[in-house]
Amino acid sequence: WRTGIEQATFLSGYAVTIIATVSLILLHRAGQEQQLRLLAGTDALTGLLNRRSFLASAAQALEANVPVAALMLDLDHFKAINDRYGHPVGDAVLREVAATLVAGLRRDDLLARFGGEEFAVLLPHTGAQTALAVAERLRSAVATQRSNPGELRYTVSIGIATATGDAPLDVLITEADRALYAAKRDGRNRCVLMAVPELIDGTADAHQSTGGNTSAQAGRLP
Ligand code: GH3
Ligand code: MG
Ligand code: MG
Repeated sequence: WRTGIEQATFLSGYAVTIIATVSLILLHRAGQEQQLRLLAGTDALTGLLNRRSFLASAAQALEANVPVAALMLDLDHFKAINDRYGHPVGDAVLREVAATLVAGLRRDDLLARFGGEEFAVLLPHTGAQTALAVAERLRSAVATQRSNPGELRYTVSIGIATATGDAPLDVLITEADRALYAAKRDGRNRCVLMAVPELIDGTADAHQSTGGNTSAQAGRLP
């Protein structure tokens, strides 16, 4: 019987070792998968959401009959900064802009590096007038930011679109993009709200403009 007990002890020890090893491997894999998932949704340079994860989160943030605003931001003449100071300085500027935007937004707002030198913001529960004020604050914060080396200065143009949560996200973003083009065309370093009738959230102030370089435009651009 002694041999039987010895055999059982040996086998159970063996089983415990195998279970522990398999568990460790699975745990390690789970950790790696989580890290990969995080990396897949994040922009490597700035740590912001990337376009894909922004679109997924933004779609979830939309609520029926609740105002929402989208901002598209694009650095002005960024190619010239790269050409003049080099790509690493351009990268540093992108990181700095990202930090400035994070500092200027609320916790519930979504911010992404949408690609290249373009950023996207979703402001939940935000009507036209507040969206204009937020955009203008962000524009001003970037314009007054002094970058090293050489106190380098740069600006952003911002396009704004507002709607109720019923509007499809892609339409909201397309309209913000149109407004961004208008801001570029009108001279850059400015915010433009594209007041598209079927997207307007119903607030009376949708066509109002605030100070600074902000302007509101009615209707679609050609
Ligand atoms: P505009 O005011 O019309 O937007 O002019 P722009 O020069 O900003 O626009 P353009 O599209 O001509 O150039 C964008 C530049 O952004 C070109 C590209 O090399 C640069 N860029 C895109 N992604 C990165 C990046 O990750 N790092 C750096 N350093 N530059 C980048
Ligand atoms: Mg640009
Ligand atoms: Mg661009």
